[in-house]
Amino acid sequence: MSFESLGLIPPLLKAIHEVGYTEPTPIQAQAIPAVLSGGDLLAGAQTGTGKTAGFTLPLLHKLALQLEKNGAGAKRPVRALILTPTRELAAQVEECVRSYGKYLPLRSLVIFGGVGMNPQIDALRRGVDILVATPGRLLDHHQQGTVDLSQVEYFVLDEADRMLDMGFIHDIRRVLAVLPKQKQSLLFSATFSDDIKALAERLLDHPKVIEVARRNATADTIGQKVFPVDRDKKKELLTHLIKSNDWHQVLVFTRMKHGANRLVEFLNKQGVTAMAIHGNKSQSARTKALSEFKSGELQALVATDIAARGIDIDQLPHVVNYELPNVPEDYVHRIGRTGRAGAEGEAVSLVCIDEEGFLADIEKLIKRSIPREVVSGFEPDPNAKAEPIQLGRRVLHGGATQRSGGGRSGGGQGNNAPRAAGNGQQRPSSRPGQPGGRRPQQQAQGKPRSARP
Ligand code: AMP
Repeated sequence: MSFESLGLIPPLLKAIHEVGYTEPTPIQAQAIPAVLSGGDLLAGAQTGTGKTAGFTLPLLHKLALQLEKNGAGAKRPVRALILTPTRELAAQVEECVRSYGKYLPLRSLVIFGGVGMNPQIDALRRGVDILVATPGRLLDHHQQGTVDLSQVEYFVLDEADRMLDMGFIHDIRRVLAVLPKQKQSLLFSATFSDDIKALAERLLDHPKVIEVARRNATADTIGQKVFPVDRDKKKELLTHLIKSNDWHQVLVFTRMKHGANRLVEFLNKQGVTAMAIHGNKSQSARTKALSEFKSGELQALVATDIAARGIDIDQLPHVVNYELPNVPEDYVHRIGRTGRAGAEGEAVSLVCIDEEGFLADIEKLIKRSIPREVVSGFEPDPNAKAEPIQLGRRVLHGGATQRSGGGRSGGGQGNNAPRAAGNGQQRPSSRPGQPGGRRPQQQAQGKPRSARP
């Protein structure tokens, strides 16, 4: 199948050709005709599947044809609204809109919190066809009367499951309340939990449902490996791996912000260029880190889970789990940063005895065991005892020997979660009815993550 056969207009085909896509990915092959034919859409697809082009291309096509027919009026009301959970994702989606729409006379804008309102207000006043936004900042503009959403014809909720995880349900409802009833709505989500289904029922009218395989859970293009190591040797092992393999563009995950900062300091001292990206960093620091990482100036980008969500870098070769996530689904999201759109990637995890329980949960979720490899010179102490892991104000017991005693914790990044975009909300530190945030067993068995009650 080709993009031409999908019937997209020539200016889009030209832009697609320039970015180097030769054929639509499976989600694009399904979503593009579905959006073009009108009607609502419920799409199950993760980051890495090409979903962004799956909705931006047909929207650009329709908006451009309408503009051609009706002409550009003096006022350019927002006709397409795309909501995303994080600032990074919003910026990247808008970058896609701009790059695919470069030969079209359409205007796009991204708005998110953490930066000044005034430039956004000026841009909105000048007229915008496609608005990409995080919910909090969009509502700020709406309350101030600086954005008019009454002419929205197309509405996209991107990474809806993440939005619910981050506690955005009330903001989403508030946005829905001010949008016109008559519109085409598209909902993209990696998982179809009951909460997503309830949201879809409220938002979508007889939607077409499409789903592509959870590629990350089965992706053969991602080589996964575990390096068992003592907790106090991880820094040295990571440096050794980066240097001895001459790795560039390594995305490194830590559980906590200060862990990310400490690791960056260490790597810099060892001569590895690294920066951290997490919720305590200003927007400009995050943007700088990301662009230096993309351009290859930075060897390593150290990120927490939410900050890394949506980082879109073509063919990221290496992902390192410096610390395993206590939420197994986060592992799948993390390694989804590599091996994209058919490219080969490698995801390695440095696992100490404290995290063996987390590893067992991950292997259960992805339904495969990850090969272990001990690196010479970094053999773990066979007599080491598992210790609890401090996560903000919570204490997690991730060591295999401690798991049967209960008290394992999960279900969100808790106190260490980076600030949610726009409205300063944080992910919950524990779920009501689950003392200590204990993870419900069903989630460890591969069921979709559900939102807060
Ligand atoms: P997404 O799932 O939208 O985050 O896209 C994942 C990655 O796939 C991005 O880096 C895109 O640039 C890339 N991509 C999207 N569509 C295609 C395509 N048809 N062919 C090759 N790469 C693509």
